[in-house]
Amino acid sequence: MTSGPRVGVIGAGPAGIMAALEAAGQGARVLLFDTNPMVGRKLLVTGNGRCNISNTQAAAARYATDDPAALGLILERCGPGQVLQRLAELGIPTYATADGWCYPLSDSAATVADALAAALALAGVRVHLQTLVSDLVPRARGLELVTGGQRERVDRVVVATGGKAHPALGSKGRFLDVLARLGHTILPVLPALTAIDCDMRPLHKLQGVRLDAGLALYSGEELLGRTLGNVLFTQTGLSGPAAMDLSYLVSTHADEPLTARLDLLALHRQALLDLLERLRGQAWPLGVALGAVLPAKAPPVMLALAGIPAERTLAQASDAEIERLMTLLGRVELRVTGVRGFQFAQLSTGGVPLAEVAPDTLESRRAPGVHLAGETLNVMGPCGGYNLQFAWATGMLAGRAAAAGT
Ligand SMILES: Cc1cc2nc3c(=O)[nH]c(=O)nc-3n(C[C@H](O)[C@H](O)[C@H](O)COP(=O)(O)OP(=O)(O)OC[C@H]3O[C@@H](n4cnc5c(N)ncnc54)[C@H](O)[C@@H]3O)c2cc1C
Repeated sequence: MTSGPRVGVIGAGPAGIMAALEAAGQGARVLLFDTNPMVGRKLLVTGNGRCNISNTQAAAARYATDDPAALGLILERCGPGQVLQRLAELGIPTYATADGWCYPLSDSAATVADALAAALALAGVRVHLQTLVSDLVPRARGLELVTGGQRERVDRVVVATGGKAHPALGSKGRFLDVLARLGHTILPVLPALTAIDCDMRPLHKLQGVRLDAGLALYSGEELLGRTLGNVLFTQTGLSGPAAMDLSYLVSTHADEPLTARLDLLALHRQALLDLLERLRGQAWPLGVALGAVLPAKAPPVMLALAGIPAERTLAQASDAEIERLMTLLGRVELRVTGVRGFQFAQLSTGGVPLAEVAPDTLESRRAPGVHLAGETLNVMGPCGGYNLQFAWATGMLAGRAAAAGT
């Protein structure tokens, strides 16, 4: 029977599970609590069920946070290399795509959750499911966790209660009030990594089309952010990673006049120019030429928007028409009206500022003995495994430090 410190972990998402395993591995007696009937509930839906588990390119510059320097230290201590190695030790071998997105070899999030549950059992972690921790009270020695009518005395606590995204999966921001009472600032918690709502009237016929494009978000004439990647046109706006990565900026600038500018030729401008030059003067339909670089539904919509008849050939088109078309394709503007809510979001921004924890131990600078990990902290990564990377990394550092009593 181990006689190490008693560590309570609140939240059995990736951050809490990793913290519990790390603390137990260091000899701590660990209690893990979650309101869900299983551990890692949200993991099951990650990566469309494949679990985009980390990203080999994860570096502080890719994330939005109040304290990039602290995030840099966290990822220096526990970067994708360390996380992927730890996951492999836990029976979760992974692979990376050419652009660094990492997945389990099984391509199945369910097997990741199963492996973690097995690892928790093997490590002797006492898992309390369907158990809400409603309060955390500092005592003269240690801390008290309040669960229903019960009180559990522990030496240290890791709070890994997540944010507010996809509340049906357990994370509803229910512990933020407790953290505020312990002295933490709570930055507004807003939807991130979600679809952007736009006035789609100009492009409503593109519904269902996906393409790689440049996307920029403007407040008036001020550029707020820019991405390049896959965009999906929906009935209500823009989705896909390129739009989702910018959605937090829509959340944080909600009261401003926002415009989304699409560059549909971000990847293939030169290819189209070369083709148009080669076919210039021929009876080649302009729409067919556009189809060389755009999905089939797009050319008629773009020709109509540019005020050019659908049947226009390259022989008939004037230089001014070609120029107008090229300008439009490089700058399609949509008025932004908001974002999809928390129920559609993959993440929330805000919560506890990263600056309020020590980057090496994740211990609270406001409440000694309390460590914070995962989405509870104000760190937002883009699509691609960055957010799970952050959850695993902070869980590892917090669990290790909690077990060591530092
Ligand atoms: C649809 C979807 C797809 C995603 N896909 C990816 C992806 O492919 N790659 C990626 O990197 N990220 C992805 N994410 C984001 C990723 O899931 C989160 O970054 C990650 O789950 C955060 O981990 P966490 O442990 O901090 O919080 P969570 O996973 O939210 O876990 C927190 C846990 O705490 C529990 N809890 C909360 N309050 C209490 C309380 N008071 N008492 C007891 N228990 C409590 C909750 O029930 C929950 O289980 C996706 C998210 C969603 C919603």
